[in-house]
Amino acid sequence: MPRPRYARFAIPLPLYRVFEYTVDDPRESAAGTRYRLPFANRTRTGVLLEHCESSEIDPARVKPVLQRLDPEPVLDAHMLSLARWLADYYRQPLGEVVFLCLPSRLRGAQPHVTTRVKCWRLGDMTAEQLETLRRRSPRQFEICNALESRPSGMTAHELKQLNPNWHAAVKALEDKGLLRWQWVDAAPQAPSSGPAPRLSDEQAAILAELEPRLDRFGVHLLDGITGSGKTEIYLRLIRSRLEAGQQVIYLVPEIGLTGQLLERVRQRFGGGFEVSHSGLTDLQRYRAWDRFRRGEAGIMLGTRSSLFSQSERLGLIIVDEEHDPSYRQEDGVRYHARDVAIKRAQMLGIPVVLGSATPSLESLQNCARDTYFRYRLDRRPTRFPPPRLQLLDVRDSRLEFGMSARALALVETHLGRGGQVLVYLNRRGYAPVVMCHDCGWQALCRHCDARLTLHQSLNSLLCHHCGYRQAIPGACPECANREIRQHGVGTERLEQGLAARFAGTPVLRIDRDVAASGEALDRRLQTLRGGTPCILVGTQMIAKGHDYPAITLAVVLEADQALFSASYRASERLVQTLFQVSGRSGRGDREGEAVVQTRFPEHPLMQAVLRRSYREIAADLLRERETYGFPPFARVVMFRADAVELDEALQTLAQIRALLETTAEFGAIDCIGPMPALMTRRISRYRAQLCLIARQYRVLRAVLDEAMPAIAGIPGSARVNWTVDVDAYDL
Ligand code: ADP
Ligand code: ZN
Ligand code: ZN
Repeated sequence: MPRPRYARFAIPLPLYRVFEYTVDDPRESAAGTRYRLPFANRTRTGVLLEHCESSEIDPARVKPVLQRLDPEPVLDAHMLSLARWLADYYRQPLGEVVFLCLPSRLRGAQPHVTTRVKCWRLGDMTAEQLETLRRRSPRQFEICNALESRPSGMTAHELKQLNPNWHAAVKALEDKGLLRWQWVDAAPQAPSSGPAPRLSDEQAAILAELEPRLDRFGVHLLDGITGSGKTEIYLRLIRSRLEAGQQVIYLVPEIGLTGQLLERVRQRFGGGFEVSHSGLTDLQRYRAWDRFRRGEAGIMLGTRSSLFSQSERLGLIIVDEEHDPSYRQEDGVRYHARDVAIKRAQMLGIPVVLGSATPSLESLQNCARDTYFRYRLDRRPTRFPPPRLQLLDVRDSRLEFGMSARALALVETHLGRGGQVLVYLNRRGYAPVVMCHDCGWQALCRHCDARLTLHQSLNSLLCHHCGYRQAIPGACPECANREIRQHGVGTERLEQGLAARFAGTPVLRIDRDVAASGEALDRRLQTLRGGTPCILVGTQMIAKGHDYPAITLAVVLEADQALFSASYRASERLVQTLFQVSGRSGRGDREGEAVVQTRFPEHPLMQAVLRRSYREIAADLLRERETYGFPPFARVVMFRADAVELDEALQTLAQIRALLETTAEFGAIDCIGPMPALMTRRISRYRAQLCLIARQYRVLRAVLDEAMPAIAGIPGSARVNWTVDVDAYDL
């Protein structure tokens, strides 16, 4: 019997350590393979990281593994190094990071079997038989026709792309003996090539510049106004990578409204792509991951976590709308998908292409430092430039369901001319405030420092932070007054108001409540695509990257709050939103308009948006950040704690601060806190924070390198828990 050897394993726990076990035959087990492991009276799944000669703990206490789960590693060496880098840079527990790189289906004990797939080929067929099919069974004929040009055969996946009801037709053909199938190892799909528009001069010039740089690592920022044809450039780059036998990861912030992007990719590349986002089941995501990993599909199109798709031939990563905050993961493992994408590309020596009409200040600063290549697109290939934003001064206006008479008149005009209208309001539900006018009572969440939002469709009050739900009280719980009033406007109320006002015109609401039902969303998108007049109402979901050419008016409501926000990011976010929302308008053959309602038309930021380009405003914002020493001119690390009592949270952070203070470079960083977080109570826990800022990353890193081993030893518990957030988005 072979001598047992030691190996180290990653286990998904919020602990800064790896775990040692013995394995029987180390030759059989490669890094990246999953095992069942005995762990504190139960079993857990772990990923083998490395073999080691000796154990750091008492050899008598090292247990043997229970069972190997995978015939071959599920994570390759590159993914493991990426995980190590991520854990190290973002100071996250390695065990959790390694499991983040796996599709959730493989995070437990589900077996991973590299399945072979059925592949159908044409049998012998006479010309007469074919002719009969053409006349009698067009579906079967279509399939035979497709197989004729694909002697290597087609898989179920490919047949489904051809015809969603392929199964019955294939069965019928099999019964007639006209089709045969056999098991094959999954074969790469030949990307079909649909028609592409002729490139504009701008697009062609950029591609000519970019193409020769694709054989090595580089960060390329497509800084192009809304609708300038960035997506078209991505599609060309994808084609060239596929032709070179490589694979591409294409990240988008949200898949919700990008249905038409999928359509575009399908037209261009046939079935040769996979999609992955949170709307899919674990099994669907696992299959997408597996097909991409095996090279069966050339493109992985998806949200943040698709970045961790494994590939042996990755040739390009695209991050569309790179400024979008949804690339940050804010719970569990904290990381920024754009920044990890850049690291991954660097490790592989491949290019990464970022695109945005409103690039983040971080990326613009990187261009200024010449770390990124920058390409500008200043024109739309379609007829009209993006509309200039106009201000609707509503200081003296009476608002009806959030809209001024002038805004409503504009909506009417555009609908009358046959256009579609988009109304942006970043607040879901019916009304954000429910209160009693006699005693001042407000509906508050019992678990959070937050108001409850009235949701009429649910007939309840709902907390947007913890999901707590309660019935709408019939009378004030404090003074029994029966007249409880609601204030403010959410998307539900806006939808209702507009539907009543513009009877006969479809009003389509799109927010998280609707997106939860894929079917409701699909129906609405269908109407939008149809191009007939309608009103689209929605939250930030409708501000992102979509291309509906019939929209001719964009209206922004309730933007003023951001003018007075305490967050240093607020101005950047507001300007990005305003340019993005207005950029949804006038993308077709009719000129667009865009307006924002405001009570502060004189505010410098509103004036700036009115008169200047995003680039000019961004340059100003960058100067401001430099003056005040905020990112990207400084780096921020945030320690957070949450506990049953506020004191416990503050004490844990004080303990962390004490450890930081012992480091050599502590004097060179700013350390603020511990102090209670802005929303101190959330989901029944009290939250506090400790913020570190330094102009030089080197110093911050030195402090963390020195202090983290000790900090990592502070145990988390159900009573008090802490986390660290490197490059925290906000203070
Ligand atoms: P962006 O990604 O910059 O928002 P898109 O690539 O979506 O821009 O292009 C905006 C619109 O212009 C789309 O409807 C697209 O089909 C069209 N378009 C893009 N490039 C061209 C081109 N070279 N010729 C004609 N139409 C184009
Ligand atoms: Zn009352
Ligand atoms: Zn709550």
